[in-house]
Amino acid sequence: MIKQPWKITPAHLAGFFLLPASLAAYFVHPLFAIALLMFYIVLCVAACFFPQTGFLGYMISRGRTDINAVSLTFDDGPSVPTTRQIIDLLDRFGVKATFFVSGLNALRHPELISEMLCRGHHIGNHSYSHNPFLMLKSARTLRREISEAQKVLRGQGVETKAFRPPVGIVNPKLHGVLNELDMYCVTFNRRARDAGNRRVRNLAEKILKSVKAGDIILLHDVPESRAVEQGMIVGEVEKLITRLQAADLKIVLLADLIERPVMKVHDALPPDIPRKFPDCAEQNKF
Ligand SMILES: [Zn+2]
Repeated sequence: MIKQPWKITPAHLAGFFLLPASLAAYFVHPLFAIALLMFYIVLCVAACFFPQTGFLGYMISRGRTDINAVSLTFDDGPSVPTTRQIIDLLDRFGVKATFFVSGLNALRHPELISEMLCRGHHIGNHSYSHNPFLMLKSARTLRREISEAQKVLRGQGVETKAFRPPVGIVNPKLHGVLNELDMYCVTFNRRARDAGNRRVRNLAEKILKSVKAGDIILLHDVPESRAVEQGMIVGEVEKLITRLQAADLKIVLLADLIERPVMKVHDALPPDIPRKFPDCAEQNKF
């Protein structure tokens, strides 16, 4: 069971004080009441775009700083040919990463999910369809999107605990939905604003400029055609890893950086995984 440190959010507490205050202010002047209500609404809307504040609910956006390490996370995959290029590169450097995948892409490329697991990487939930407007939807739609992705991944042998919202935006309903599903929200605190690999140029440089221990680095596993053709994605990730290692920053799995399980592998694996990856199955790598 994933324990949430708190169920009452700062947004609940602010509402608890501001809403009665607004009612009281009404008797002084209706405009005061409207101003207080507007303030609360603006606060809640702004918090959707700044999930790191934790105003709308508990979430993790950076890790421990005492082990001098960072984590690499790749969103939006798995994809062809990017995922394999990335995991081949990670293997060369002996680095493990965490992939936040959409249920739909996992369904399209189950062999890539198996391969990531086989090579020691972790998988997180990034919703089923990766709708960028998901956070404008009802709690029911949110629950369905997260649960559907869980179902797909469960069928591929993985029970994920960590959810990362599409486009990094949250809403007030997310916290409750994740509590129900015994999951938690994890975002990031370092990125190159690469627009899903559409702006890959100088990606490594942008991250390296301010990277520090405890950072959760956001990258993308998206086959944006021009960047793939020119080998820019893998080239930038290679540069990033090389420079992080040269700066004596270790690259560890997200689960180790945040000291929480990101996923666990089911006892009952889909029957074709041991057949496809006999080496991993023998070594109990799953
Ligand atoms: Zn995404």
